[in-house]
Amino acid sequence: MFFLCVDDSATLRKILTMTLKGAGHQCAEAENGQLALQYLEANKVDCIILDVNMPVMGGVDFLRERASRPDIKKIPVIVLTTESDQGLIGTVQELGANGFLAKPFQKADLLDAIAQVT
Ligand SMILES: [Mg+2]
Repeated sequence: MFFLCVDDSATLRKILTMTLKGAGHQCAEAENGQLALQYLEANKVDCIILDVNMPVMGGVDFLRERASRPDIKKIPVIVLTTESDQGLIGTVQELGANGFLAKPFQKADLLDAIAQVT
């Protein structure tokens, strides 16, 4: 599968990329929601892994934008959450998020989350 990993942390993007590639997947990276939308205009992906707190465009605004775009709204999204994001889960679910993954995560947690949404 082809993933788009959207997170403002270069370290986290690297961990996601290494984990996904290790599991036989391919992936691209974007450092905020706006760059992710730009990427999706020109490329097809099978699943999006999305951080919540990012500069320029965060995960909630990205999901809002995705919901209004028929071309991308069917791509499954796994939202990366932290303890402090817990109150947001209902909101992002309403906006169409398909799965959740709490940071920090183990490789198995990531692969489980992917198996549940794809
Ligand atoms: Mg972040």
